Amino acid sequence: MDLNSIAYHRSEFKKLSDCNVNVATHALQYGTAVFGGIRGYYSESQKNLLIFRVDRHFKRLHQSAKMMQMVPPLSEKEMANILIQVARLNNYRQNVYFRPFLYKSATQLSPRFHDVKDDFSLYSLKMDDYLDTNKGLSVCVSSWRRIDDNIIPTRGKVSGGYANSGLAKSEAVQNGYDEAIFLDTRGYVCEGSAENIFLVRDGKLITPPVSASVLEGITRRSVMEIAKSEGIPVEERDIARAELYIADEVFFTGTGAQIAWISAVDRRIIGDGNMGSFTERLRKRFVASVLGEDAEFKSWVTPVYE
Ligand code: PMP
Repeated sequence: MDLNSIAYHRSEFKKLSDCNVNVATHALQYGTAVFGGIRGYYSESQKNLLIFRVDRHFKRLHQSAKMMQMVPPLSEKEMANILIQVARLNNYRQNVYFRPFLYKSATQLSPRFHDVKDDFSLYSLKMDDYLDTNKGLSVCVSSWRRIDDNIIPTRGKVSGGYANSGLAKSEAVQNGYDEAIFLDTRGYVCEGSAENIFLVRDGKLITPPVSASVLEGITRRSVMEIAKSEGIPVEERDIARAELYIADEVFFTGTGAQIAWISAVDRRIIGDGNMGSFTERLRKRFVASVLGEDAEFKSWVTPVYE
């Protein structure tokens, strides 16, 4: 983290090192914040930083806030403008990750959501790969179950809910895997610690439905739109654990992960252990899309510089 980078905090643009909160802040005590994760891709050919699906991300942030009875001090558009200004103030000429969040900023003891002030902050960091997307990932099914939507809404990015992600991620990495796959409380395949999951079986793309306590991933939705354009059938349905082992291809999607292929689940090699042809096709279009080079999906990116 570059503490000298410019961030937005308490209605001001300032150095990240000056963006602090009191230890008694509600959000710090109870994880009462909702956040987003947005990528900016630097296009060498256009000499511009392109923000991926910025409108969708701020729409989801507002939806997360609504679920948690938060009152955003800024509109979706105002937040998007702040992101663009932060990008410009840092004069980014490389791939970047933006982290906007709304948090309960009052120093207040009760964990309630209503009548506690909310604030908005945004910081950023340079980021290329979050997971190594060149090699196949070796993942495990977590011994931790995904929190259910009736416990903490999983279709919102609620900070406190990420304790669940942290437990699964650490368990996986400390046991020698790259990532974890959660099952939901019913025992069906759900998602990764910070990624949605897709399988390919018999030429069909399969992913758990949004009712399976998964985040409504923006990359997930984008990959489904690309698949549609490629004429690849997509099925949203419950997936049993053992289907992972016999799938032709398995991959994660996410803002951080992008499209990350999985070569083994619980030490079972997926397909022939190489990146599958469907994953490769989707990845190619996805990479072109984030760089504003796909004619059909040009509207997905917003340039930072004029
Ligand atoms: N699931 C979880 C739990 C996540 O944290 C993320 C990352 N935001 C995703 C899925 C992927 O969502 P998106 O494609 O919108 O980044």
